[in-house]
Amino acid sequence: MNDLGSNPTSSPASGPRAQDPLPAYAGAVVIGAGAFGLGTGFALAKNGLNGVLVLDQFEPGTQTSARAAGLFKNIQASATKTELTRRSIEIVTRFEQETGVAVPYVQPGSLFVARTPGHAAMIEAEIEDSVGWGVAVERLDRQEAQRRCPYIDSRDFVSAYFIRDDLYIDEPKALLVALIQAGLRVGMQTVGQTTVTGIDVRNGEIRGVQTNRGYIGTPVVVDAAGAWSRIAGAMAGVDVKIVPMRHQLGITALVEGIPPDLPIVRMTDGAAYVRPARGGLMYGIFEPNPLPFGPVPGETMSLDMVPVDHSVLREARDRIVPSVPELAHVTDQEQRAGLFTMTADGKFIAGPVPGVHGFWVISGCNGSGFSMSTGLGAAIAEWIVGGAPEIDLSLLDPARFLDLEISESDLLAQSIWQYANYYTPLS
Ligand SMILES: Cc1cc2nc3c(=O)[nH]c(=O)nc-3n(C[C@H](O)[C@H](O)[C@H](O)COP(=O)(O)OP(=O)(O)OC[C@H]3O[C@@H](n4cnc5c(N)ncnc54)[C@H](O)[C@@H]3O)c2cc1C
Repeated sequence: MNDLGSNPTSSPASGPRAQDPLPAYAGAVVIGAGAFGLGTGFALAKNGLNGVLVLDQFEPGTQTSARAAGLFKNIQASATKTELTRRSIEIVTRFEQETGVAVPYVQPGSLFVARTPGHAAMIEAEIEDSVGWGVAVERLDRQEAQRRCPYIDSRDFVSAYFIRDDLYIDEPKALLVALIQAGLRVGMQTVGQTTVTGIDVRNGEIRGVQTNRGYIGTPVVVDAAGAWSRIAGAMAGVDVKIVPMRHQLGITALVEGIPPDLPIVRMTDGAAYVRPARGGLMYGIFEPNPLPFGPVPGETMSLDMVPVDHSVLREARDRIVPSVPELAHVTDQEQRAGLFTMTADGKFIAGPVPGVHGFWVISGCNGSGFSMSTGLGAAIAEWIVGGAPEIDLSLLDPARFLDLEISESDLLAQSIWQYANYYTPLS
């Protein structure tokens, strides 16, 4: 697999290095070289925008995106997200053919499962919607679920579906590296160790950005700063109302009989997911009491500072073990944590910001940003370059939060609720 290289100040594939002078002018400056920033930057350059510059305060591709589970799921709560997932999967599966740069992915499909009647009713309603939006699904009985996915014990399943096109990227960093390398071929430059410290807005128009290494003139700034996107937005006078919140996962040591092409499993009643990973299993849950944790303006924070709470991963195992018994007998080779950017309504914040011409946001991942990054990034890039969106992104409109009167405590409470109820049946 490709690697970003051992020198923390260098970028891969002979891109610009942090010690090289920055250009005085860029066609667009993207703040943040995570999945969202790289997905958008790559698509901007591919769509013909000259001088696309993706800046990161750290080594590119090393923060939350590199810690994701790498899962792409077609069962989404809206037609918009379903379409964005479809586009993302299309981009990833055709990436090598279209760019010459490989993205190693596995497309084994997934089992979408409920072990309580309430969750069965919920997934059946979601499946019905998703079929209407064009997703390929198949209902399975317990025996067939077991046959397709030998690492599960299906006896508690009340309802199970197979989602044919779901996929995963085993090492999420591979997608980030591929976007950097393919981006370089179409003119995108990715530069690490470069912090955007100010955004120059004059008469309601973006004019440039200030960085720790100098000023860059630009008419377009994309805030793709992940857990820092509220801090970055404030530099343009825009309140990007997100709350960073910890999410974590475990990867077990080797487990006999887990080839990579066995399906992903989502157990909605346990708010849990499991997939093959590095010859073992990866697992995680949406816990009921998630930890808000994020950067503070003026202080340096990296994702290495996000603590792993082992009790959450023990709870994850407890929830999953009845259906994946092997998890009871194997230790973890890795446990890692990163930060979701949650919003009060559980939807992305993505699109142009009214009142600041040239300022765009792509944030508010609510747990699905890695998989959506190429599709949503492409949609935003098409909009920037073409002047109009090719798909309806009004559901994600940053404007919906700009005038919203919401106290910090309510924003926090609603964001926690969105995380904790990711798979809660609401009726
Ligand atoms: C454990 C875990 C599992 C997950 N699993 C999945 C999954 O299976 N599928 C899925 O779709 N999603 C998943 N997610 C969510 C997904 O990882 C995120 O939605 C996604 O990675 C967010 O990408 P990003 O680009 O916004 O953030 P990041 O990757 O954090 O990138 C933001 C970048 O902005 C940079 N930055 C910030 N401020 C500045 C500044 N002022 N100047 C320069 N640079 C700046 C940062 O250094 C950082 O590199 C998971 C998340 C976690 C934590």
